Amino acid sequence: LPPTSYCGRFAPSPTGPLHFGSLVAALASFLEARRQGGRWLLRIDDIDPPREQPGAADDIQRTLEAFGLQWDGPVLYQSRRRELHEQALTVLADRGMAFDCGCTRRDIAERARQGPNGLIYPGTCRNGLPPGREPRALRVPVDDVLISFEDALQGPQRCELAQAIGDFIVRRADGCIAYHLAAAVDDGDAVISHVVRGADLLWCTPPQLYLMQLLGLRPPHYMHLPVAVNAEGQKLSKQSHAAPLDARHASRSLHAALVFLRQQPPAELIAATPSTLLGWALEHWNPDALRGVQQLPAIDSITD
Ligand code: GLU
Repeated sequence: LPPTSYCGRFAPSPTGPLHFGSLVAALASFLEARRQGGRWLLRIDDIDPPREQPGAADDIQRTLEAFGLQWDGPVLYQSRRRELHEQALTVLADRGMAFDCGCTRRDIAERARQGPNGLIYPGTCRNGLPPGREPRALRVPVDDVLISFEDALQGPQRCELAQAIGDFIVRRADGCIAYHLAAAVDDGDAVISHVVRGADLLWCTPPQLYLMQLLGLRPPHYMHLPVAVNAEGQKLSKQSHAAPLDARHASRSLHAALVFLRQQPPAELIAATPSTLLGWALEHWNPDALRGVQQLPAIDSITD
């Protein structure tokens, strides 16, 4: 086979242990990459210390290993890439594509419009900080920008960035690099060709693609998977008290994740080793049955 340039990644934030929802994203991105004969990287998105949990990054790696999801090359830590992120902010500023914003949340809440993805910044500091204001966050101005892309599962996407997001933050008031900027820079720098992640992040793709455009980075292809939700319809997360994955039940959880992904694994494989299950999954992987699906009930592998 000719060498392929497929490169995928799994990019968890170390805010806690992996749960069923994160396993779905890890497994699907792993299977896509391996099926294409591509590389699969692990990036730890540790740029938001207030939300992080000590030990979570190591715990995530041990869990992936126990589940047989072995990544290629060294683990990438976003926290060690600050210089590259700052360089990107400088490029944006030099091009007139970043401005200091002195507004507090309260200022914004008072004047903002409601958009589909939250409050839309009212443009207060676009043409310079008002007198007496100190710079807080750094924002990218968004005028008439239409971002379109084809999602492998969710189909054609079109986003009027000004209506959907508005002038968005690339460096937060607390000095942290914002997720969109770090994700765009690091996906671009690693030449990630395919991003496979949950549909809860579908709305993040247009600002990330816009940043890649502004920074001259090559945009990846995207596949947004259905998100695992609990009985109340909430996305599984630390906030919704999702149960951590248990390495002692790796095969059951992998089997459940394959059922969730509509791969119809044979029932008897529940008792197989993780590597046998992954072998079956690699041979049969076909995400077509997930077309257009944005959320599905999670499967509790221990009680179901
Ligand atoms: N670190 C982000 C998260 O855990 C996801 C990053 C991504 O896949 O782009 O929600």
